[in-house]
Amino acid sequence: MSDPTLIAGAAQLGIELSGAQAQQLIRLLDELDDWNQRMNLTAIKERSAQISKHLLDSLSVQPFVQGERVLDVGTGAGFPGMPLAIVNPSKQFVLLDSTAKKLKFIDHTAQLLELPNVQTVHTRAENFRPAQRFDIVLSRAVGPVEQFVKWAGHLVVGGGRLLAMKGRHPEAELGKLPSGWKLAAVHRLNVPTLDEERHLVEICRSHDRL
Ligand code: SAM
Repeated sequence: MSDPTLIAGAAQLGIELSGAQAQQLIRLLDELDDWNQRMNLTAIKERSAQISKHLLDSLSVQPFVQGERVLDVGTGAGFPGMPLAIVNPSKQFVLLDSTAKKLKFIDHTAQLLELPNVQTVHTRAENFRPAQRFDIVLSRAVGPVEQFVKWAGHLVVGGGRLLAMKGRHPEAELGKLPSGWKLAAVHRLNVPTLDEERHLVEICRSHDRL
């Protein structure tokens, strides 16, 4: 079963979902509901809110997901990493969290939905030492921007971007970036069906060209 609100919302974001992708996104929510009966994965239980706040909110950063390798830091139950992996099958997604039980849900669902481009890592971001760094390191709802840069800055390639998904404009957090990093931009995100403010903070190394 696909969902007309999801398909129309994704189209508004410039994403033409295939029938298979629309089904995978809805099955992701079905599995979330199922697992949520046994463990606390999400407080958002109503389907229309899940479509807005989990699926379309995750997909709203699609224009900024560039390069081949993407890391989602503090992915929780897989947001924004899972929806983005579904619509970007040619990119590699690593979904990292310090809580193992949520990653079990992601491993199970990635297998069920046949997503070979999803890999999970159980560690704290600041302790992660991958063999290869990432073009994009992104996070949603994982603490202040300054802390995100401190934890995850070492994980992004030169010229790559750290992307922090935020609600209201995080003015107060932006003056305190660690040295070696600068603000590239703050983008206002419009999430279809969601009447709430959303922003994306884009950060790069001080010497990177904007
Ligand atoms: N990104 C998901 C979302 O928006 O639905 C989950 C957000 S949840 C509020 C924050 C998540 O970040 C938790 O799952 C927590 O375990 C994880 N987390 C917090 N600090 C972390 C760190 N230093 N390294 C890895 N994961 C971390």
